[in-house]
Amino acid sequence: GKMFLPQVVKSARVMKQSVAHLIPFIEDEKDANSQAKGKILMATVKGDVHDIGKNIVGVVLQCNNFEVIDLGVMVPCDQILAKAKEHNVNIIGLSGLITPSLDEMVHVAKEMERLDIDIPLMIGGATTSKAHTAVKIEPQREKAAVVYVADASRSVNIASNLLNPEQRKTLQAKLNDEYEKIRVRNANRGNRTKTLPYNTAVENAFQQDWQDYTPPTPQFTGTKVFDNYPIEELVDRIDWTPFFIAWELAGKYPKILKDDVVGEQATQLFNDAQAMLKTIIEEKWLTARAVIGFWPAHRSGSDDIQLNNNDGEQLALLHHLRQQTDKANDQPNYCLADYVAPENSQQDYVGGFVVTAGIGMDDKVAEFEANNDDYNAILLKVIADRLAEAFAERMHERVRKEFWGYSSDESLSNEELIKEKYAGIRPAPGYPACPDHTEKGTLFELLDAEAATGVKLTEHYAMFPTAAVSGWYFSHPDSRYFAIGKIQKDQVENYAQRKGMSLEEAERWLSPNLAYDPS
Ligand code: SAH
Repeated sequence: GKMFLPQVVKSARVMKQSVAHLIPFIEDEKDANSQAKGKILMATVKGDVHDIGKNIVGVVLQCNNFEVIDLGVMVPCDQILAKAKEHNVNIIGLSGLITPSLDEMVHVAKEMERLDIDIPLMIGGATTSKAHTAVKIEPQREKAAVVYVADASRSVNIASNLLNPEQRKTLQAKLNDEYEKIRVRNANRGNRTKTLPYNTAVENAFQQDWQDYTPPTPQFTGTKVFDNYPIEELVDRIDWTPFFIAWELAGKYPKILKDDVVGEQATQLFNDAQAMLKTIIEEKWLTARAVIGFWPAHRSGSDDIQLNNNDGEQLALLHHLRQQTDKANDQPNYCLADYVAPENSQQDYVGGFVVTAGIGMDDKVAEFEANNDDYNAILLKVIADRLAEAFAERMHERVRKEFWGYSSDESLSNEELIKEKYAGIRPAPGYPACPDHTEKGTLFELLDAEAATGVKLTEHYAMFPTAAVSGWYFSHPDSRYFAIGKIQKDQVENYAQRKGMSLEEAERWLSPNLAYDPS
């Protein structure tokens, strides 16, 4: 029959706990019959820390009699390859969530080819895609297959196919075909997307008559730290839909609870989450911390924002990108800097924040894992992520109502907040309106965020603990979330110069946004 992911992970708990009980008795009798179908090494690549999806895939594979060697997170390429050799594995699975991981995976594939390692690769994680696998990773390898795995439920089939020489051939032929089609389509699309010269895009910026509009003044400038923020205040701000997506149950909350197909499973899972939330609060499993800040700001040049202290001395220069596609119907080419008043027009401000709900989570997760309880370990991670997003939502609400105070009589339901009906935005570096993750470095310095919250940045600017959100606050009433999309070399050259980076380095960080092939 059909199994849903929460059931699979729960049954894995029963299986693992039973096996743990039996192991002392069967150790002596180990024979060929008890051998796994194959060995799979899994790792979240260097610079990245997200592992919920990888852990789920690991559990599903183990349930299907694969031996899984999980190297954890932030694993450098040489370590992945050394361990693969040491354990003589049949497949390597790479996982990643942030965009720099896409490049890291290309690097691993290149290294495997260079070192003659003919182990097939499985690719998965939120920013990975069939297109990226086909266009960027697969062409690096001659000697072995590279397969994109869209979700955990497909991993068993793909792994089984890769292990059987006959089936592998069939799969590879099918993939060659499929990936080649994607590559051709991709090459054609590249020629079709019309972009404007960077200068023309700048001329088509979003316009505000700054004589006509006075930006609001926040209640304070500088930073404010929140330690031990009450978790119970965040519960009503949770967006539950992504919670179900994490468990591969499709549908919008709350309708999903009554869904014909997944309703029963969704309800059970939701009840388990409610019970755990209650315990998280009662037994103080998690600590939430935040830091927010506001600074006098003005647009600098066309696409940068200068932040000052109260004496007018520069604290930081934020670098932004501008949409460069040729827009139909007179739409502007957006850039976040457009929402901030230019120097000597009006006094404007920009804010920033880092929130986390993940302090203390790892100890509890380790406890569950030691007890072979993947279900609760994963449930806790997913809930902590939800609480972090809820914290970002709640803090943004308080910023609008209290700390910046420009929407003091706002009264929006959680559903309206999720639909972004509020005034102003909180764009996050690494996301579509500001895709360069390196700007998080500036944000964290301005907020002294690591000291204030315990949230660290990895070398690829992933936040650790993972249950964390960071971003900028813009107050402009017309500000909105948008996507930078594809940009051209003329803009990247200009950006690299503004950031004091080499063109190559800028191209590396922006690689998912390049409208051209830098090589
Ligand atoms: N309610 C959802 C919010 C997801 S969006 C949830 O709970 O998961 C997560 C964060 O991404 C937002 O808080 C915002 O900071 C940022 N964001 C959303 N769209 C963006 C865009 N186009 N550009 C930059 N940041 C964006």
